[in-house]
Amino acid sequence: MNKLGNLVADQWVEGDGDGNTLLSAVTGEPVAAISSHGLDFKSMHTYARSVGGPNLRKLTFHERGDMLKALAKHLDGVKQEFYQLSSQTGATRNDSWPDIDGGISTMFVFSSKGRREMPNDHVYLDGNVEQLSRNGTFVGQHICTPKLGVAIHINAFNFPCWGMLEKLAPTLLAGVPAIVKPASSTAYLAELMVRHIIESGILPPGSLQLICGSVGDLFDHLDCQDTIAFTGSKATAEMLQAHPRVVSESVAFTAETDSLNMSILGPDAVPGTPEFDLYIQEVTREMTAKAGQKCTAIRRIIAPSTIAGDVVEALSTALGKIRIGDPALKDTQMGALASQGQRDEVRDRVRDLAAEADVVFGGHDDFDVHEADGRKGAFFMPTLLHCDRPLHARAVHSVEAFGPVSTVLPYDSIDEAIQLARMGEGSLAGSVITNDNLIARELVLGTAAYHGRMVVINRDSAAESTGHGSPLAHLVHGGPGRAGGGEEMGGVRGVLHYMQRTAIQGSPQTLSTIGHRWIKGADEIDPGVHPFRKTFEQLQLGDTFKSGLRKVSLDDINHFAEFTGDNFYAHMNEEEAARNPFFDGRVAHGYLIVSFAAGLFVDPDFGPVLANYGVDSLRFLQPVNYGDSLQVRLACKQKTLRGDSGYGEVRWDAEVTNQDDEIVAQYDVLTMVATDAHWQSVQ
Ligand code: NAP
Repeated sequence: MNKLGNLVADQWVEGDGDGNTLLSAVTGEPVAAISSHGLDFKSMHTYARSVGGPNLRKLTFHERGDMLKALAKHLDGVKQEFYQLSSQTGATRNDSWPDIDGGISTMFVFSSKGRREMPNDHVYLDGNVEQLSRNGTFVGQHICTPKLGVAIHINAFNFPCWGMLEKLAPTLLAGVPAIVKPASSTAYLAELMVRHIIESGILPPGSLQLICGSVGDLFDHLDCQDTIAFTGSKATAEMLQAHPRVVSESVAFTAETDSLNMSILGPDAVPGTPEFDLYIQEVTREMTAKAGQKCTAIRRIIAPSTIAGDVVEALSTALGKIRIGDPALKDTQMGALASQGQRDEVRDRVRDLAAEADVVFGGHDDFDVHEADGRKGAFFMPTLLHCDRPLHARAVHSVEAFGPVSTVLPYDSIDEAIQLARMGEGSLAGSVITNDNLIARELVLGTAAYHGRMVVINRDSAAESTGHGSPLAHLVHGGPGRAGGGEEMGGVRGVLHYMQRTAIQGSPQTLSTIGHRWIKGADEIDPGVHPFRKTFEQLQLGDTFKSGLRKVSLDDINHFAEFTGDNFYAHMNEEEAARNPFFDGRVAHGYLIVSFAAGLFVDPDFGPVLANYGVDSLRFLQPVNYGDSLQVRLACKQKTLRGDSGYGEVRWDAEVTNQDDEIVAQYDVLTMVATDAHWQSVQ
């Protein structure tokens, strides 16, 4: 039998003994054996920290982003192997899509976020510079640097690929190595993926290790530089979080746990409306996708009491049409639970729920299983319950049957719907299906504090909606209370969980040097030539250009108004402008100031500056009256090389002052500047 490997210090190692046998969810036949006995967990920890960490930290965020992209492409090329094996976990092809393709696309998103939203550098600047002194010689800036430890990823059984990649991508982007421990029952799929990751040779040594089986004494070696990201049951999370070493060393611990996710049907969405049909569709999909083994699946169906009967009827009809059977077959709509043990567990939980709610659909073993043996495979019938006094019930808000099981909870008013939603005591995902945006606002504001993510679906968004249950790499995944109190993904936010945020204080020049971003008050360097004559490599942070003065005349304002069509009264009518609390009379257009500034700082000849692609943070701070004079100071603020493209992005700090040295406008000018090689090739 295939015995799963453990990846230890870049070597595949088998655990001692025969190991535990993992069975197919569909046939009940053995798929693999698993053991991590005999591994030296301490040396795994040391290897990650001494080899993986330094290797990853040598790379910039952009280089790590490129690495993720290459890895995602590689996995995409071999994904059919994952799909083939995935059916053993009970997943249909549709179920496997969010796990396999979803995992790979999460890697692509993080790759792109790293290259677009993080610098091509080793330090991430978090937020703006804070002025801490009157004269500006002492300032503050938050910076984020990679933690020097290892990220321990403990994953749940239901998404062996996505669950691993959604944690791995931000971790590697942060520059931190990982030790991954997949859930045993589906570890064979995660192991196959790790084999492909390692075979690709894309990751530097030490970046990734894998434990198939128990984590042994690994936790005993952790300290404050390490991070644990856990997905699974609340009980396990609580136990691990209370580990003496986690407590004494303040090891960062993120948990994604159980969740009694709700979906509210708005009172407007009565039968016959598109929203009613969308609701039935959404709940049916959420109950049956992955056979209901999704941490985000809808467990509580909160519907107006006046139409709760219609909801039960429509859902029963839809669930009755679901074809359950061999997940490898195209026409199967719902596969099996991950294991027989899981099926026993779900049965027990349905029994708990049935103490407070009536089973109105399913809940028995007498159902057809398409092309598979219902006794050997872990098949379970979709089961719908109805609780007629949900405000007085407990189990329906706290017992998670991790399978195709959900309960209808009727409400009589919006306040009651909100109260019911909150009774879940913290969830990963919630949804509201209504075409009334005021009701949507009331429901979202009333329940958001109990949710990590909420989706509002109506006829306008339905066709393109990603649905209630899909966590997205761009948005946070996690939730308060019962959901574990953790947060993952959410774009760059997810990367920062693996980094230390530090407030740095010092002079503008010191902080400019540390952060590779010029700060006002730091040295203004005279580059000897106009900085637009310099290539990307030649430019230095702080290279500064100061223009001469240009007077703004009334003719200029009239001309600009006529030319652009912007005849706003504050520029054109003396009396009306003076009645405005901000002005004494006619003032120059803000865009005229910016345009004149460009005229003052631009060096017009053919040169290495290729294009201006925008401005950031534009503020007009003082009115400019005719007769005033303008002057610009432009300083090279930040440089970001764009791979091998032949150019880099250069951000300039622009400050426009008047004849009294008062700042009238400030902003960042964004340009693309040619590299030496490109500039030489076009001359
Ligand atoms: P579980 O028993 O808590 O297992 C989760 C993970 O913890 C598995 O990898 C498991 O490994 C590991 N684990 C268990 N005991 C451990 C220990 N003493 N030391 C280190 N690791 C240990 O959860 P489950 O029952 O498999 O998963 C279902 C639950 O997960 C459901 O309640 C569901 O809501 C939740 N879940 C949440 C999310 C989310 O994103 N919030 C996603 C999926 C699932 P073994 O498999 O080897 O025991």
